[in-house]
Order: sequence, then structure tokens, then C-alpha cells
Amino acid sequence: MPTSTSLERSSGGLRSRTPRYGIHEESGLTRREDPALVKTLLRVLHYLSPHRSLVVGTFVFAGLATAFELIPPWLIKVIIDDVIQAGKTELLVGVFLALCAAYVLRSLCGSMRIRMNNGLEQQVVHDLHVQVFSALQRLSISFYENRPTGEIMSRVLNDTEHMQRIFVDGLEEIITAGLTLIGIMIMLFMLNWKLALLALAPIPLLVIGAALFTKRVHGYYRVIRKGAAELNALLQDMLAGIRETMGFNRQPYEQERFDRKSDRCRQDTLKAMYLWSYYSPGMMLIGSLGGAMVLWFGTAEVLEHRLSVGELVMFISYLALFYVPINQIHSVNHMLQHALAASERVFEVLDLVPDVRDRPDAQVPGARLRGEVTFHHVGFHYREDAPILTDITISVRAGERVALVGPSGAGKSTTLKLLMRFYDVKQGAITVDGFDIRDLSLAFLRSQIGLVQQEPFLFNGTVRENILYGDLKARQEEIEAAAKAARAHDFIMALPEGYDTWIGERGVKLSVGQRQRVSIARVILKDPPIVMFDEATSNIDTETEVKIREALDDLTKGRTTIIIAHRLSTIHGVDRIIVVDHGRVVEDGTHETLIGHEGVYARLYDAQFQV
Ligand code: ATP
Repeated sequence: MPTSTSLERSSGGLRSRTPRYGIHEESGLTRREDPALVKTLLRVLHYLSPHRSLVVGTFVFAGLATAFELIPPWLIKVIIDDVIQAGKTELLVGVFLALCAAYVLRSLCGSMRIRMNNGLEQQVVHDLHVQVFSALQRLSISFYENRPTGEIMSRVLNDTEHMQRIFVDGLEEIITAGLTLIGIMIMLFMLNWKLALLALAPIPLLVIGAALFTKRVHGYYRVIRKGAAELNALLQDMLAGIRETMGFNRQPYEQERFDRKSDRCRQDTLKAMYLWSYYSPGMMLIGSLGGAMVLWFGTAEVLEHRLSVGELVMFISYLALFYVPINQIHSVNHMLQHALAASERVFEVLDLVPDVRDRPDAQVPGARLRGEVTFHHVGFHYREDAPILTDITISVRAGERVALVGPSGAGKSTTLKLLMRFYDVKQGAITVDGFDIRDLSLAFLRSQIGLVQQEPFLFNGTVRENILYGDLKARQEEIEAAAKAARAHDFIMALPEGYDTWIGERGVKLSVGQRQRVSIARVILKDPPIVMFDEATSNIDTETEVKIREALDDLTKGRTTIIIAHRLSTIHGVDRIIVVDHGRVVEDGTHETLIGHEGVYARLYDAQFQV
């Protein structure tokens, strides 16, 4: 039951949620109890409610098309019984014209039905995409750090695509088939109720068959959707790491991994297909045997003059039409199971409650913050058994420049993530200008902080678009001023199309130093009172380093600044250095005092400069 399990899940912390939906343990999905299919289906159908007029339109035209579909067998009966056998030839032209009119009207109504249904399905698909995208925007970083991107993409694109089949094919076929069945049943009973009952005899068998098939195939489709997501995740990972694959000559290894996963998908899909290969012809056979029985008894009725030949032909014609929608319903049921398995995965995303979210009374202070940052006895862990930060107490005055240094893995970047509220602290509190950051609205808090990440991410677009991300309303002069302050303007102007140069996915067409300067420009344009700079660990040449340092000086002027420095040369000009080791603050002071202490900082300094 997506809703209830998700709510249970929501009430737990990250730990209780992650294993259930992490790709590696997703088999948990197949092990848990069957969600109520009807509940899932009703939830899917709920997407129709905002588009009632299109739903009604689809129904009306489907009903009319079906009604016109039922006229021709009756006209055929008139031709056989009245025109041919009773010799009323004067009826022929009228019957012929009526037949043509029935076909034309059926086609017109069919066309309108398709039109209405397409409009409906596209509306619903759009609503669904928007809702899933907005759910993804709401979720916390922990969601993304615990799932492969390809798996998430698979839920957004592939699973919604399968889900939409309920509206694209399912709805249309169910309506048409349902109405046709009702119409034909009425005609059959009007014609000869005994034969009609006989025609209905196979129905219980068909229902039992459908129920057994549904139960089995739904489980298969859950596995198929999971496998498809894993394949997607593998593909995404392979594409992102293509340079490593080439560099290590690991193409055969990657090929083998992909082949194995793809073959698993093939086998899983075939299970559902094979089941269908028994089910569909089996159901058809049962239906045909029903038809044969009708022919048997119908012929006897004709021979005993209780039924005319025309009536028997008409009955058989209706019966032939009767099994078409029944087979259609079987196909829809098959498709529906795949779509519902996909829907469950989409609903899981929609139902997730972000770990980090606004409190109901979240505050938005009227003015820009000054930028006084304090960590009060902060403790944090990603996993309960592995504490990352313990009792961290740091005070940074508004406008002060502070460097965080410490050995790799000490918890420096985590400190920045906590200030940005990518994660919430587990103990203690972080305040900015006296506000507990958990009391501020997330949007407001993040608007007050500029983050230059260790590996700055640039979007697949132009240089201008990437800088504009800092302030979407900025004018060209403001963009250029920010780029100049970030020491990026000159290299941007030297690019083939200047600010309009397309820089590729993740900014691959720029060097590391250039990417870092574009991301500094973006933060300068944002103009926040607090700036956090996680220095790139990759080696950059001295000239670029000088440029980045100059850019940093401009970026941090008049702002509270926290710099994570890997190269101690970067901390030149900071007011204070805070040393973090094993998740604790072990030293705090100026460069000179810390060198004098001969502690962790002095050792790091000696190691870097080999004094
Ligand atoms: P570096 O100088 O190498 O960048 P750091 O001091 O910034 O290191 P952090 O990135 O804060 O260190 O990581 C601190 C610890 O937290 C490391 O042991 C790391 O493995 C762990 N860690 C970081 N991010 C996560 C995460 N999303 N999930 C689980 N553990 C994490």
C-alpha cells in the first residue's frame, strides 16, 4: 500500500528509510506485502478528477461509437431475413444507406473519442510529470546521496511513462470494451435469452483466469521495473565515468556488467511474456468454446424453427463482437499490471517526506542577515554507528573570515552541509544572527548563503546562463561585473562566443580553475552575507591559484566567510583558523598562535611546506 507504507516510512529517520528504497536493497520492495492494487488504481484514477469535462467527453463519444457499432449486425439480419428470404427488395437501398450512415457516424464518434482521450491523457501525464519533479525538488540531499541518479531518473521518466499507459491505452480500451460488452449483452438477451446465457457460460472461467494471471504477473512487473531502474543506473554511472573506463581500458568489464544486467532484465520480462503466452490463448480458447456451444444450440433452434437463419447469423455476429472486448480487457489487464507496478514506484517518491523541511511556523526575517554564525555543541552522523562531528562549538562574527582546516575526512565539508541545512544537526544547534537555522525558512536561509563547492557544478548551457543562476534577473553589466570580480571575464571573452559559449555537461569544456571562477562569479552575483568556499583539492597552476585567490578576496569582502582550505596557502588573509580533527574542534586561533602551539595545524603546515 504505497500510502500507508510511505507514511510509516516518513515517520522514520534516514536510516529507516534508506535501506528500503536504496537500489541495492530494493528487493525489499518485492518481499513486502502486496500493496492493494485497487487502492493504487484508485489513486492513479484520481488524476482524472481535475479534467472531468474531458472524461465525460471521452465517455459520451465512446458510448455513441459503440452504439453505432451495434447497428450493422442488425441490418445484416434485415437483409438476410427480409430482403433475401422474404423478398422485400425495396428495403435494400434504405438498409444499405443506413449501413453506410452507421459506419460514418461510428468513425466520426471514434475520432472524437480519440481526440478527447488524447487531450485527457496528455493533461494527466503533464500533471504527473510536474508533480514528480516538484516532489524531487522538495526532497533532501540525503535522498540523492543514497540513490543512484539513474534509478531516480528511471522513476521519473520510465515509471511515469508506464504509468501513463493506464490513461493512454487502458482508459480508452476499458471504456470502449466495457460499453461494447454492455451493448452486445443487451442485444444478445433481447434476441434469445437462452443462447445469451450459454454465451455467458465461460465468463466465470475467464474471471478466475484473469485473477490468477493478475496476481502472478503483477509480482513479475515489480521485478521488471526494479531491473529496468538498475539498468538505467548502471548506464548513467557508466556514462558519467566514461573517462575512467577509457583510461583504465575497462570497456570489456563494463560491457560484461551491462550484458549481465540486461540479460537479467530479458529473463524477468520473458517470465511475464511467457505467462501471457499461456493466459491469452487459453482465454481465447475458452471464449471460442463458448461460441461453438452457441453455434451448436443455435443451429438446433433454427432447425426447430424457434430462430430464423438471419437471427442466428446476427447472434453469431454479435458474439464475435462480444469476445473482442473481452480479449481487449485481458490485454488491458496485462498492461495495467505493468503500469500499476510502475505507479507504486512513482507514488513512493511522491510520498516521501523530506528529512529537512520547513517547520510550520518557519520564519522569514524582513531584512538581510548580518551573518553571525554559531555552532553550539553540534553533533552529527550520517550513520548512527559512525559519528562524524562531536560537540562542535564555533563562533564566527559577522564579516569575519575563518578557515576550517584539518586532515582529510575530518568533517569539514559536513560542517558546511549543516550550515546550508542539507542535513539537520543531530545534537546541539546552529544559529545565524541568533536564529536557530531550523526555525528559518529553508529558502530564506539558503538565500543568505553562497556556497562554492569543492567540485563546482556547472549546468549544461552557456557561461551566461551559469552565472545568471546566482540572480536570474541580473542584467548583462551585472553579470560582467561579477565575472570581472571573479577574475573570469578575460577568459570568458577569449572563448569562441564569449558569454554565449556552450560549456558542455558539468562544464567539461572549461578547465577546473575556470569552472571554479565561474562558480565564484555566480555567488558574487547572488550577493549573500555569508560565503562558504570549499577549496578544490585538484592541483591548479600557480597563476590560476593567484587568480582564484584574488577572486576569493573580492567574493569575501564584507561577508562572513568560511573557507575550507586544503592548500594552506589559500588561508592567507583569514582572521582565524579553526582546526577540525576526528569531528572535533582541536585548535582555534591565528596562524602565528597555532604554529606556536605545535599541534595538528603546525604538523599539517610542516607537512605541506616541508619545513
Ligand atoms: P576532505 O578534506 O577530504 O574533503 P572533509 O573533512 O571535508 O574531507 P567530510 O566530507 O565532511 O570530510 O566527510 C567526513 C566523513 O563523513 C568522512 O568519513 C566521509 O566518509 C563521511 N561522509 C561524507 N559524506 C557522507 C554521506 N553522504 N554519507 C555517509 N558518509 C559520509
